[in-house]
Amino acid sequence: MTDTHHIHPENDEQYAGLTVNSGVAQPPSINPYASRRVRRKPLPTAGELVEGILKGDVTMLSRAVTLVESLSPAHQAVAQEVIEKCLPHSGHSRRIGITGVPGAGKSTSIDVFGLHVLSRGGRLAVLAIDPSSERTKGSILGDKTRMEKLSQHPGAFIRPSPSAGSLGGVARKTRETIVLCEAAGYDNIFVETVGVGQSETAVHSMVDFFLLIQLAGTGDELQGIKRGIMEMADGIVINKADGDNLGPAQLAQAQFRSALHLFPPTESGWAPEVLTYSGYYELGIPEVWDMIDRYFAFVDANGYFLRKRREQARYWMTESIDETLRGHFYDRPDVQAMLERLEADVLADRRSSFTAAREVLDYYFSSLRQPNQDSAI
Ligand code: GDP
Repeated sequence: MTDTHHIHPENDEQYAGLTVNSGVAQPPSINPYASRRVRRKPLPTAGELVEGILKGDVTMLSRAVTLVESLSPAHQAVAQEVIEKCLPHSGHSRRIGITGVPGAGKSTSIDVFGLHVLSRGGRLAVLAIDPSSERTKGSILGDKTRMEKLSQHPGAFIRPSPSAGSLGGVARKTRETIVLCEAAGYDNIFVETVGVGQSETAVHSMVDFFLLIQLAGTGDELQGIKRGIMEMADGIVINKADGDNLGPAQLAQAQFRSALHLFPPTESGWAPEVLTYSGYYELGIPEVWDMIDRYFAFVDANGYFLRKRREQARYWMTESIDETLRGHFYDRPDVQAMLERLEADVLADRRSSFTAAREVLDYYFSSLRQPNQDSAI
């Protein structure tokens, strides 16, 4: 500004033309009670959802997945009906589990692996299992912005991890989501998990191929062996094999290869392979996928593919029963109150753990035998 003395009349304190009164609070332009009602879309019926899913309608698929993840019994009832009806249309996909510690490059890699898979046709669903995540607080996994290219691809469906809960519960929801995605025509399913706990075991029990992403020289190699994750892997891929890191990556490859020799032969008869690649610079991606193709050809031919899927179905039946029984027991307020009392007794040495357990179980089972007991099934 050149003339600092000149004040525009509207900015002059004396100028009254634009004086603004403090005003009174205005009522909201939208009735808050009405808005609550209009925001909620009517729940589609199970039939409508199934019809939409079988047509490959992504909106209907998303809504069904939301019901699967919902804790409301009414939503669960619809979800279970949808799953039942989708089951005969499911199963026709390659389910691939992808794990690695945070920073290993999972999202970068899934972005490029995903585009590679989609370049051959078909559709891809990317799901995640992260029991520590709570969607409202920002999930570590499945965040769409992490897979920028893939999230814009019309053939990709990316879904974050169901929000925090027991690992069993989160895993079951992901497994049910796989069924829905397959019925919707997704013939490639990636299930991603962070390599820091029990969740790998859960993912391993729902996929056909388990891919372990490793980095060179971080000391993770040994941790992987300790946790038994390496034993689950059908393929180990060393990421960030680029620039100065190429040498260390190749060294790590050799180390992993020799470490694998120490393991007993796999149940599938497949010898797990170790490859290097760079997710960021997109190097070695077709080679990784060639390995996965060879694995599927191998297990198709020797019958292991179907055997494993059947074994997984048996496993999930047991898991499902376990979870339902636990829920039925622990969710009852009377049981909760009794447990609280008994725990205090056990902590104060007033009662042994055995008699305390016996007492609450006796109470629970006898209440189930009473007809008209509200909390009994
Ligand atoms: P995530 O936590 O396993 O999902 O890992 P990200 O995909 O978020 O990657 C972690 C970091 O490693 C990011 O800064 C990436 O840019 C980087 N990164 C991922 N892949 C590569 C790669 O192939 N080479 C190099 N040099 N960096 C990579």
